[in-house]
Formats: sequence, structure tokens, C-alpha cells
Amino acid sequence: MLKDKVAIITGAARGIGLATAIEFARAGATVVLAGRDLPSLEDACNTVRGIVPDALLDPVVCDVAVAESVRDCFQFVMRKHKRLHVLVNNAGILEDALIGMATPKQIERTFAVNTFGPLYCSQYASRLMARSGGGSIINIASIMGVNGSAGLSVYSGSKAAVIGITKSLAKELAPNAVRVNAISPGFIETDMAAAITPEKYKERMDSIKMGHAGKPLDVANAALFLASDLSRYITGQVLGVDGGMVV
Ligand code: NDP
Repeated sequence: MLKDKVAIITGAARGIGLATAIEFARAGATVVLAGRDLPSLEDACNTVRGIVPDALLDPVVCDVAVAESVRDCFQFVMRKHKRLHVLVNNAGILEDALIGMATPKQIERTFAVNTFGPLYCSQYASRLMARSGGGSIINIASIMGVNGSAGLSVYSGSKAAVIGITKSLAKELAPNAVRVNAISPGFIETDMAAAITPEKYKERMDSIKMGHAGKPLDVANAALFLASDLSRYITGQVLGVDGGMVV
């Protein structure tokens, strides 16, 4: 489904990013796994190769919160591959805090990774994709960016912004055949989800109509659909992957 395509996935060392890298490699893409820590990215590449032995993979150090680091990552892709078809803005952080407790540093950190990161990456990706004849940008937002949650105003705000960015870029980049969509996962079994309190865990589980948490593969499958030509006439949409949390 993605043969001869080049894809960048940020935050690809674990969780949803790693699951997406596996599915994209399985679909035949050349996958650039971008993240903060090279050894973790190399481990992730080994995991992908354990499943897809002939996978074409590049581990690239990239802190999405730092504009220069993003520039270096995309310059590497430009030099090596000369083209780009898919970007998955997946890297994200979640830090719980009631509004009275959130520190300026925490607010800055959250928006730097979750909101500025997708903006920096989309700037470079949109140029490369336009030169490659088009492409697909997939922003991993969150159900919290749509619905909000007590104690998560900073995180929810950073993800709501991603949805606004998605819709604006979809309008701006459509003439260049670059589609831009978002996925709003609900509650997915990753390190991020494991970090919440038992009370929040119960609250989340009680809100899922299907009665169980999602797997990273559930989000990866949605990303594969949005990356491929199966969704070639779809742009500016926010796809919930939440087992019926929001219906
Ligand atoms: P994980 O915490 O398991 O993984 C997050 C990944 O992002 C890690 O690989 C991490 O790298 C990377 N990352 C963090 N900061 C940066 C940075 N500055 N630059 C580059 N990479 C970075 O989270 P998930 O897989 O659960 O989450 C993936 C995305 O899905 C996030 O955007 C999250 O907000 C979103 N999401 C997740 C939900 C869930 O229930 N799990 C629900 C809704 C949305 P490192 O290993 O270096 O820390």
C-alpha cells in the first residue's frame, strides 16, 4: 500500500509511533524513525526488522520541540531520499496538573512538543511533499483536544491546537495535493496511558462504550489508511479511534 513511499514518524521509538512504523514498513514504505534518543531508535528498528526483515529504515535523532533539530532531520531526508510522501506527527507528552498547579515550564514544555513540534515538522514536510507530487500529513491529536478533561487543560489545549492546525493546513495545502488529517485516540495501552492514576484509569475505562482500551495497532491502522491512497479524497478530518468514548 505504501511501496516506493517515504514516511517520517516522530516519536517512533515506542508506543503508537513504533506500531505505526511496523505497519508502514509492512506496507512497503521507507520509514524514517525520528526521536530523541538514538539507541532507543536503533532498538525500535531492530524490533521492526524482527517483523519485516527487509524493512527500509532510518533512525534519525530529532527533538520535535527544537526547530533546528527538526530542520536537521528533514535535511537528512532531503539529502538521502530527495522526496517525502507521509509525515506522522506522533511525538507527544502528557503531564497531569490542575490549573493552579501547572508551572510555566510545564506549559511551555507541553506546547513545545505537542503543538510547536507538529508545526515545525509540517513546515518542512509540506515543502518536500509539494516537490514530491503530494503527500499526507497525519497529526496524532487526542480525544482530550476535542472533549477536554479536568486536570488536563494544558495537554488538552495543546491537542485542540493541533486540530485547528490540521484544518487550516488542509485548506492551505490542498492545491499542492497534500492532505492533512488528524487522529484522536481515546485510551490506548502505551507507557503514556500506564502513567495515569488508578482513579483516572477507572474513569477512562468507564467511558469506553466498547469496554476495553485500544492497542497501538488500532491507531497505526488508522494512520495507514490516512497515509495510503485509500483515503485520497479525504482531508481536514479528525478520525476518532476511541472504542466509542465519543459517539
Ligand atoms: P508514549 O509515551 O508511549 O510515546 C511517546 C513518544 O514520543 C516516545 O517515543 C517519546 O520519545 C516521543 N517524544 C516525546 N517527546 C519528544 C520530543 N520532544 N521529540 C521527539 N520525540 C518525543 O506515548 P503514546 O505512544 O501513547 O502517544 C503517542 C501520541 O498519541 C502522543 O502524541 C499522544 O499525545 C497521543 N495520544 C495517546 C493516547 C494514549 O492513550 N496512549 C491517547 C490520545 C493521544 P522518548 O522515548 O525519547 O521519550
